[in-house]
Amino acid sequence: MSEVLYGSAAADALRESLRGRIAALNAARITPRLALVRVGENPGSLSYQRSTRRACEALKVTVDERVFPASCTTGELVACLRLLSADAAIHGCLLLRPLPEGIDEQAASEAIAPEKDVDGVTSQSLRRLFVGYGPGHCPCTPEAVLHLLDHYRVPLEGRRVTIVGRSLIVGKPLALLLTGRNATVTLCHTRTEDLPARCREADILISAAGSAGLIGPDHVRAGQTVVDVGTNLNAAGKLCGDVQFDAVAPLVDAITPVPGGVGAVTTTVLLEHVVTACEEVASRGS
Ligand code: NAP
Repeated sequence: MSEVLYGSAAADALRESLRGRIAALNAARITPRLALVRVGENPGSLSYQRSTRRACEALKVTVDERVFPASCTTGELVACLRLLSADAAIHGCLLLRPLPEGIDEQAASEAIAPEKDVDGVTSQSLRRLFVGYGPGHCPCTPEAVLHLLDHYRVPLEGRRVTIVGRSLIVGKPLALLLTGRNATVTLCHTRTEDLPARCREADILISAAGSAGLIGPDHVRAGQTVVDVGTNLNAAGKLCGDVQFDAVAPLVDAITPVPGGVGAVTTTVLLEHVVTACEEVASRGS
């Protein structure tokens, strides 16, 4: 049986390092503060809001929650995000997704100041990821995958990594981060020919497709580490990943579960970004 790479262990280690950094900020009479903005009543957003609030409370990061009805306009949302971005007491700003139809997501995202873009969704944050400097933060989920792999000491340099999924928030930034760590990356998508073969040739297989059960025994081989980023609902309405866990786990070296894998690390990475943003403000003395 393979090793199960639980996200909680990686998240605990990261949280522990944050406690010391937050204590240092508190000693300078600064409290990290996150603004969280939700539009409408999407169940996934409500659940993420609750888990983010709990995570903030556990680390004594203040969370300032703003809720808009689904009927609000892009202009109202943009105005709020600009105000939050201009508020010196707020260090990070998180806009929950998905947004209701009719809201211009790009306009809303770009209203967040890049230095407060703790979710890494603005074009400035993506630019920073690409060029390696400038304001902004890395998208949280790709960074959470790296934290998890690093926590379990999975070597990256020189290894072949296949990523299934090329979205701007997961697949593409993850490919850049892994290339920066000297892995050799293959990025797959719906037009990839012979996906099982591309998956089997990897040392590390990462699925971020959002397709329940996509990765089965044909996609894996002995010796691999499999990371499942997918969060889907199965036919019974239960949370599941992209990987057929029970069928794949006995065949590979290591595998992350869903729930309890990457998702468990993502919120802690978000808080790490809030703390970093706060430290940057503190170091400028403003
Ligand atoms: P997305 O924007 O829908 O992108 C999905 C990507 O997967 C696309 O590039 C798509 O290819 C590819 N894909 C879908 N089905 C495929 C298939 N059958 N074969 C090959 N490629 C396929 O999704 P996302 O926002 O990146 O999210 C991906 C998954 O991660 C979702 O389940 C989401 O809920 C989850 N997620 C988890 C976390 C976490 O913290 N655990 C955070 C964010 C997202 P094309 O480009 O060709 O369409």
